[in-house]
Amino acid sequence: MKSLVLLVTALSFLLASGCSQDKPYRESRFLMGTLVEIAAYPDTNRVRTAVAEAYDRMEAIEAATDHRKEDSVLAALRRGERVILSGDLRAVFASAMMIARESSGAFDPTMGKVVSLWGFDMDTPRLPLEQELRNSLKTVGFEKVTLAGSIIKAGSPVWLDLGGVAKGYAVDEAVKVLKEQGASAGIVNAGGDLKAFGKKPGGKRWRIGVQAPDDHQELAGVLEIANGAVATSGDYERYFETGGKRYHHILDPGTGYPARSGLRSVTIVAFDCLLADALSTAIFVMGPEKGLELLKGRDGVHAVLVLETGEVLTTDGVGSEVGFERR
Ligand code: AMP
Ligand code: MG
Repeated sequence: MKSLVLLVTALSFLLASGCSQDKPYRESRFLMGTLVEIAAYPDTNRVRTAVAEAYDRMEAIEAATDHRKEDSVLAALRRGERVILSGDLRAVFASAMMIARESSGAFDPTMGKVVSLWGFDMDTPRLPLEQELRNSLKTVGFEKVTLAGSIIKAGSPVWLDLGGVAKGYAVDEAVKVLKEQGASAGIVNAGGDLKAFGKKPGGKRWRIGVQAPDDHQELAGVLEIANGAVATSGDYERYFETGGKRYHHILDPGTGYPARSGLRSVTIVAFDCLLADALSTAIFVMGPEKGLELLKGRDGVHAVLVLETGEVLTTDGVGSEVGFERR
């Protein structure tokens, strides 16, 4: 009888210790305008410290890429001053310019004045007057700007907005910190822009829900990835309604108005979250046809598009290279 009790105790201890080994350390913080959730394996003091450092890294990137503070580099650029970009700002800007060129300006990091006119990053967004939009559009144009070393050259003040890429970069950098500091696997999720790395105990792939546009509780589908990043741009993420119309935060650089390209959301799977983030915004503006064209020949990049009609389009690798269940 005694030995049976001992055996049962030993078994439950084994199960219990097995469980705690299998559980990640989890933490959430509000950063970059969204809830950032980190889960990292194994749950040790070292990994807990790594998570704190990953958040520090993201905070530093938020500070470098924030355009609202008057003492920031981006504010100086708006005043037409010559500034030297920090390593982070340079990296984010260079990638934003690359996607701007590749998308023929559907993604344009010089949309800052137009974005601030709408106020989507403030508590009180509003519909701008047409005249205001026309004036602000004069400051837009990535082709008027060049990067020389760590200096931005332009003939006139530059209104940068890096909101379409900065989160992706911050997620990639947070993952680098976690890996360097000893996490064996984990995920950094900044409000749906995320990157997963390593093998989870049990070897299961990461399951990532693709939200349905009109209902926070519903999913359009579930992706399954082994490693890599996922980012979504959707018209339901930030919007307001006035005069019976809905206005969302992804703007068409051609008109200054919210992009209406037949899409409700674009989800991109790529190795880097920076690329997934930039491409999702660009393709949202370009629409399904041109958007899918932009993805051709990019190895390891996949897309799930939710159309205004409710139809869900996927690229060839979805369902084979990455798992996908439609809902
Ligand atoms: P995301 O949610 O990643 O698609 O990024 C949207 C954010 O990017 C907006 O809140 C703006 O800050 C910025 N943005 C909006 N339209 C554009 C555009 N056409 N090109 C680049 N950035 C944009
Ligand atoms: Mg984006």
